Amino acid sequence: MINKQLKHHSVHRLYDARLKASTRPFLARGAHVQRCPFCRIDEQFCICSLRPETKSNAGFLLLYYDDEVLKPSNTGRLIADIIDDTFAFIWQRTESNPDLVSILKDEQWYPIIVFPAEYASEEREVFSEPYDIPEGLRPLFVLFDGTWRQAKKMFRKSPYLDQYPIASIMPEAQSRFLVRKATRDIHLATAEVAACLLDGVGEKFNSELLATWFDLFSFRYQCGVKRQNQGDSGAEVRLVNLLQKT
Ligand SMILES: [Zn+2]
Repeated sequence: MINKQLKHHSVHRLYDARLKASTRPFLARGAHVQRCPFCRIDEQFCICSLRPETKSNAGFLLLYYDDEVLKPSNTGRLIADIIDDTFAFIWQRTESNPDLVSILKDEQWYPIIVFPAEYASEEREVFSEPYDIPEGLRPLFVLFDGTWRQAKKMFRKSPYLDQYPIASIMPEAQSRFLVRKATRDIHLATAEVAACLLDGVGEKFNSELLATWFDLFSFRYQCGVKRQNQGDSGAEVRLVNLLQKT
């Protein structure tokens, strides 16, 4: 279902808080563009009236590196658009944020850290697809959002996350996405990683929905940028068709 109402969610709230905390103005690339405050796309290409809604058993916890959340191109926001239980925090080295701790300790969740397994220590439990979540618990995928270097730093220096198992995105799952991708960029965006994870817990529809929402974002975002659009112009039709199936 498409929900035309604007949704002010956890990533928007984190954006506002981080912007307030900035000591100097954050100059995003293309700062002259008049952006929609919700989807952060050039207003004339706004996708908000197409935002789909769904129900999911999974949750996402996004840990942002410093000012990553301020970047209009950040796609963690797209996860929160669709998946209600999406939480967002600025990463800190210590377990000092009580809200973050209470989510991790909440008994309904089974936290899983999403990171390449080759970085895990030998004793660390590693999950592969399909992710086998203990009966009665809901998967809470913890994602690091930043550059690869920043993500590695967050993974290594968050002792409070060391107790949780790791899930890697399998190369096969990744390649399914890469086949769809028009660009040669082999790095998956945060929202695409989340789509893979939803697939891994058997939520095929939600996976497809998020992947398509990402494609629409990517195409419309590039409409507002002065370089060749490598996005999929058919994403909007695919999204509408997908929603008709429900
Ligand atoms: Zn918008």
